[in-house]
Amino acid sequence: MFHKLARGLKQRPGAGIALLIALMAAIFLADTFTRLEIAVAVFYVAVILAAFSFLPRRGVIVVAVVCAALTLISLFLTPNGGALRELGLINALISIAAIGVTAYLALKRAAAEDAAFEARTQLARMARIHSLGELTASIAHEINQPLAAIATSGSACQRWLEHEPPNIERALRALQRMTDDVTRASEVVARIRRDARNAAPQRTRLALPDVIGDVLERAGGELDRHEVVLSTRIQEHMPEVLGDRVQLGQVIVNLVLNAIEAMQDTPAGARQLTLRLTAQEPGQVQFSLTDTGPGLSPQARERLFDTFWTTKPDGTGLGLTISRGIIESHGGRLWAEPAGRGGAVFCFTLPAAPEEEPSS
Ligand code: ADP
Repeated sequence: MFHKLARGLKQRPGAGIALLIALMAAIFLADTFTRLEIAVAVFYVAVILAAFSFLPRRGVIVVAVVCAALTLISLFLTPNGGALRELGLINALISIAAIGVTAYLALKRAAAEDAAFEARTQLARMARIHSLGELTASIAHEINQPLAAIATSGSACQRWLEHEPPNIERALRALQRMTDDVTRASEVVARIRRDARNAAPQRTRLALPDVIGDVLERAGGELDRHEVVLSTRIQEHMPEVLGDRVQLGQVIVNLVLNAIEAMQDTPAGARQLTLRLTAQEPGQVQFSLTDTGPGLSPQARERLFDTFWTTKPDGTGLGLTISRGIIESHGGRLWAEPAGRGGAVFCFTLPAAPEEEPSS
């Protein structure tokens, strides 16, 4: 009720000031015409609280000074003071002290409210800057992958053409990979634009083994270069999933590249990557990727999916954050756990697409 009244007074300050003047006049008259031993002036505290609810800080100070002055004036105007004047003076001083303390506390509270507001604004501003930075970094991260792949395929193509005699077939294959990666980069840009417009992501029926096949073809060069032996165990008759091909491919690329990087210090003969795809009950598909890297430290297990958390000198700490976001937006779950022989296993699940109605 008090808040309602305060809001009303803020909207109509004229009415508020009239109310304050009426209150001050009433207290002044009562203080002047009652006996000196009754400290009516203490009620000016209510006037200050009322002023605080709708007046700016300077207004509260003016009201407090006026109240103190009125207290002193009524002390001298009160009739038949006589022997009671000393008691009246003490009461007036107590009232003025109460007015002063109330005004001081009200002003302190106003300052604290201002500081809290300033802090909230600052926080909101920082959150906006942070998410803008996050977005920029994530775009850079997603575009960087196809660009790096294009550069690798480009130099491979050049090597095959400079070969004596030139190996046209392999050069053409490298060119094809470049074209595919350019398409992928433009699909990523198209998706970012779609996301920026808050449009729903593309959901089509997908066979995950095909998506995996595409990714492994693209990552093949990296696997060879790092002498990683890959084994894939894909269950037969896998149900399809409903999803965005580019996004899901992006998640698998992220996991594969992370695993390759994690196995850098593993002796060459022991760099093994095992990819499994199984149909789980009820209506779920599970992907897992097991490596023979150093595994996950307690800190890694806690922070793996935190934005910007990275242990790599040129890492962004965004790959897993983005990947988890993509899987969750597809209604699935992405997590990591220690692998049996010391490495790490990254898994995700996705809901299987509903059975297609047989066309009649
Ligand atoms: P980035 O690769 O840029 O560091 P990510 O979000 O993809 O960003 O990964 C965050 C961190 O998680 C990595 O820096 C690394 O320390 C850890 N990590 C990711 N994958 C593995 C893995 N397969 N084994 C061990 N640690 C991993």
